[in-house]
Amino acid sequence: MNALEQQLSYPLGDALPEPGRTLEVAPGVRWLRMQLPFALDHINLWLLRDEIDGRPGWTIVDCGITNDATRAAWEQVFTNELGDLPVLRVIVTHMHPDHMGLAHWLTERWNCRLWISATDYNAARLASQATTGFGGQATALFMASHGLTDPEAMEKIKARTNYYASMVPKVPERFRRLLDGDAIRIGEHDWTCHVGYGHAPEHMSLHCPDLGVLISGDMVLPRISTNVSVIDLEPEGNPLPLYLDSLERLRALPADTLVLPSHGRPFRGLHTRIDQLQAHHDERYAEVMAACAEAPHSAADILPVMFKRKLDLHQTTFAMGESIAHLNALWLAGKLRRLMGSDGIYRFSPSCGRRRTEPLASAAETDYTFRCP
Ligand SMILES: [Zn+2]
Repeated sequence: MNALEQQLSYPLGDALPEPGRTLEVAPGVRWLRMQLPFALDHINLWLLRDEIDGRPGWTIVDCGITNDATRAAWEQVFTNELGDLPVLRVIVTHMHPDHMGLAHWLTERWNCRLWISATDYNAARLASQATTGFGGQATALFMASHGLTDPEAMEKIKARTNYYASMVPKVPERFRRLLDGDAIRIGEHDWTCHVGYGHAPEHMSLHCPDLGVLISGDMVLPRISTNVSVIDLEPEGNPLPLYLDSLERLRALPADTLVLPSHGRPFRGLHTRIDQLQAHHDERYAEVMAACAEAPHSAADILPVMFKRKLDLHQTTFAMGESIAHLNALWLAGKLRRLMGSDGIYRFSPSCGRRRTEPLASAAETDYTFRCP
């Protein structure tokens, strides 16, 4: 456990649900884990005791990726944990493959509805159709414009046209829309939808005031920081302030809320974790400003500044997205300016507090403070 994690409390200790089994974390709220074939090796999913139109059963929150192992693990859960009751609905917090993957199979298997935000539903539906040009060439060109030039990495990114669809081959043909502020009756309790931006298009966390429980999805994780990336579809996107604003809104929830994250263990210390994540990004902003003050930096140049460990290709593409997110935030706040070199690569240097249209003094003459946008 790292020093920051020690500031949080883990009411279940080291207990983890066995494969194919669940652990009750609050009355009628059950935790299960599915394996993932990435560095991030698991996802937490949730079963909520429910009743719809007088029919008792379960609501599933998040699905796992599409593969045989995950389907088999679900079958075990159905055998062991449902008490002969059906699944009545599937809620997906956001469109990422580990959350959305098996939604099509689960909703078909139980003949029930998918509930998700409209933005994430449509993004998932597009991305799962491999012909729409997600990833591949467009991602490679975008990464190249931000300085990732290694030919081997470029070839691998170009070849990765089927990445999302390999884990989400299909999306249910119909859905029910979740909106920020919606109160959904699940069993005996209302759960309120809290929208989160910056990580996914329109992520929904679910808070149950009665139980004091927040299903945070990927918006608040206890150990790792949530991935916040600029992607090729929206090159001038500014997801980091959106993420930090969303996080700040969650501060309105009680400090002793039991947080059920998609990765890691259930914890208490929501406000402390929000403080930690805000401090984390403040530090990254300061590092990025300091690096750009020494010399103009591309997003690829920033990688060793922000990420001290060696990154594989999968991690490098995520890290590039995060690096661009910090640079775009500082650029769009007027603290950095962005210039494309004759080599076609964007580099960022301090704007010296002037508007972007004014000429710049050399970086060495500039004097500015490291403040976040
Ligand atoms: Zn996610």
